[in-house]
Amino acid sequence: MKELTQLKKVVSHPYAYIRKYKKQTGKKVVGYCCSYAPEEIIWAAGALPVRMFGTNENIHLADTHLQSYCCSLVRGILEEALDKSLDFVDGVIFPHTCDSIQRLSDIWRMNAGTGFHIDVVLPVKLDADSSKEYMTDVMKKFVRDIEKSLGVSISADSLRACAEKYNRIRKYLKKIFEIRSKNPAVIRSSDVHAIIKASMVMDRDLLLKELASLVEELQKEPEKGKPAGKRIVLAGGICNLPDIYSLIEDSGGDVVWDDFCTGSRYFEGAIDLNGDVVQSIAERYSNRVVCPAKHSGLFPRGEHLVKIAKENNAKGVIFLFLKFCDPHSFDYPYIKEMLDREGIPSMLFEIEEQLPSEGQFKTRCEAFLEML
Ligand code: SF4
Ligand code: SF4
Repeated sequence: MKELTQLKKVVSHPYAYIRKYKKQTGKKVVGYCCSYAPEEIIWAAGALPVRMFGTNENIHLADTHLQSYCCSLVRGILEEALDKSLDFVDGVIFPHTCDSIQRLSDIWRMNAGTGFHIDVVLPVKLDADSSKEYMTDVMKKFVRDIEKSLGVSISADSLRACAEKYNRIRKYLKKIFEIRSKNPAVIRSSDVHAIIKASMVMDRDLLLKELASLVEELQKEPEKGKPAGKRIVLAGGICNLPDIYSLIEDSGGDVVWDDFCTGSRYFEGAIDLNGDVVQSIAERYSNRVVCPAKHSGLFPRGEHLVKIAKENNAKGVIFLFLKFCDPHSFDYPYIKEMLDREGIPSMLFEIEEQLPSEGQFKTRCEAFLEML
């Protein structure tokens, strides 16, 4: 499928793609590092929103600012700012989420030199009426901040058009997940991961076209018979290691859904296009599947994981946490307990900067899959 090839090409050299795109279009590039960043507003402001994933290798500059017990995502992103790999960025935005990202924002502001810097101070508690009002105010302020930083004005009509575009992008991404869950043999999970990653980097107009024709192509694919793999749901914060998917598949598993912010949390929830569009964008961020850096009642994350495991007929759940990620580690015991109560087996694997040694991960994975 040529669309898939195109998306994978973007992901294999994202910075080369962004530099070329910037040169060709003259657009500004805005970096962000958390899926609570309101990308649709950045795109409506005429800039390209780019998720920064950081490097996994040779982190040393960041270590002069951050303790070694910060997660590798935060350290890897700062490393790239300091070694100027992110020199194409015109500004960055930092949503108020986990402690590590909040502290990274302060260190970044003082040291990175990547243009304008906007903190988006989102509410922590998302399920109260007052926090929804507050979220709307935060989004309104963000519209003003980004307008000022980029020297543009965003009309309500252009914002609505972008919101509509993002709804379609998210709908297609969800459709691809659904197609894979129904018929995993049609597309590899590592390819689905690449599609999501490309969605956070590339020209969103082009992305929309590519996704539309990719979904059309995938829907035409005949059922390819039942793959032998055991159906697995992945859970955690982010997964930036495509090899993990291949290792799970090679160990006899089939990733059929996930609860990652580089996965389903990125596309869940639509923006209501009626009424005040900024308020609707705020509502989506308040109502979408919550991550552990936010609060929305005591058990919704566990309930959600049980629900997606059941809906996708998963035999088990694999938790993949970045080492030193406190928010996910704090939530883990209660979520595991909920899965246990439902008879859904799970396994936890912590990842440092690099992919764990292939043998180590595969052995644990094979043992877990065999037990299912
Ligand atoms: S897990 Fe939560 S805080 Fe961490 S990057 Fe994802 S959305 Fe942001
Ligand atoms: S949520 Fe966890 S993995 Fe994500 S940035 Fe925060 S500490 Fe790191």
